[in-house]
Amino acid sequence: MNNYDVIVVGSGLLGLSTAYHAQKSGARVLVIDRGSVAYEASSRATGYLSLRADDPDEAPLAGMAEKLWDTLDEELGYPTEWTQKGRLWVAFSDKQVEELKGTYKAFTRADFGFELIDADACRKLIPILSPETRAGLYTPRSGHANPQRVSQAFAWAFQDHGGTILEHTPVYSVIEEAGKVKGVKTKSGDLYAERVVLCAGGYNAKLLEPFGVLFPVATVRLEALVTTPLPPMYEVGFIGLNGLSIRQTRRGNLHANGGPHEWVDVDADSEPNKPNTPIVRNLVRRMIEAFPVAKGAQLLRTWAGVLDITRDQKTIIHRFDHPEGLLVAAGAGHGFGMAPAIGIAMSELTLNGATNAPIKGLGLERFSTLSPNWKAEKQWHAGSYNT
Ligand SMILES: Cc1cc2nc3c(=O)[nH]c(=O)nc-3n(C[C@H](O)[C@H](O)[C@H](O)COP(=O)(O)OP(=O)(O)OC[C@H]3O[C@@H](n4cnc5c(N)ncnc54)[C@H](O)[C@@H]3O)c2cc1C
Repeated sequence: MNNYDVIVVGSGLLGLSTAYHAQKSGARVLVIDRGSVAYEASSRATGYLSLRADDPDEAPLAGMAEKLWDTLDEELGYPTEWTQKGRLWVAFSDKQVEELKGTYKAFTRADFGFELIDADACRKLIPILSPETRAGLYTPRSGHANPQRVSQAFAWAFQDHGGTILEHTPVYSVIEEAGKVKGVKTKSGDLYAERVVLCAGGYNAKLLEPFGVLFPVATVRLEALVTTPLPPMYEVGFIGLNGLSIRQTRRGNLHANGGPHEWVDVDADSEPNKPNTPIVRNLVRRMIEAFPVAKGAQLLRTWAGVLDITRDQKTIIHRFDHPEGLLVAAGAGHGFGMAPAIGIAMSELTLNGATNAPIKGLGLERFSTLSPNWKAEKQWHAGSYNT
């Protein structure tokens, strides 16, 4: 007997957004997480809507997400602190100016309205920028929100519609019988539904292994920090080409994340979210390089989060023919911003078998010739860093 119509594994934003829309459409949905609600990447994110405007497959879904953010507070009934003031990439050296031009060229492939601007124009947007500022790439579109508020908003809205969340319950495997999904095996016993949606970050790969699926994600640890509140200085989302992103929150804190990133292994029973002090020091150094005014600021807290990056750094949205009833999604390092659109696409695919959301080119078919050694070939293996 089915306990639910749909079981969603993982209560990050991809899982919660999918569950919210499916529950709102009338399905009985259970979300299961091995830990607390949205305690992993989703609430640890910086909160940018990161438009993959350079990619023809992903740009349409990014555009859909961008529109959804504008009305998300009303949709969910809770505040997300969405701030739609655009996005600015800044170069601080000749080398970075060249990189910026390359990014601009890539971005012109999609119609997102980016422009190259000079240092004065950058400082109009962010007056506290360093005198070393050389040039910027700006879009008035895009924005940022508070990841903890957003996660909470989706979880509460899902429950307001009658959805159920089961925390501290690792899912060990998907149950299949005669080519059809039947439910999941968990630490607390078997739970049944004819549709199972995997939104378990890097752990999706382990849940899909028994079906012979090579799920092309590598897990990477990324670090973040937040300062004590400062006076209001800017609202645009800032990306430094010196390797970090910083937004100023509604309360005035500077909230930053950056590299180098450390590739890690994920396991259902391990806790890899440990900040690494040398990296945090590195983040602080670069934050002061970009915003000299930050020199006197105090660190309020630092943390790390593990996110899953796909081989081509694009979203994965996939419905399997075999076993019937199984679906999977992955956010590819920018799942926070994409989650409102991914949730609609996944919910429709789950309940109706099709969606009007623009997901062409985002399925697993694109990896059909992927080498099993792809992580090693890219040097994305546990213990190695990118810089
Ligand atoms: C520091 C940092 C900054 C970031 N900044 C941004 C940003 O500015 N913009 C942006 O778009 N993205 C950003 N990201 C990436 C973004 O956070 C992720 O792409 C997104 O949150 C992925 O959502 P998710 O639901 O797939 O994964 P998660 O939020 O990680 O959720 C997966 C859930 O699955 C659960 N789970 C795993 N295995 C099991 C199991 N076996 N059984 C049950 N549950 C399981 C986990 O406990 C977890 O709660 C950032 C990430 C980090 C770490």
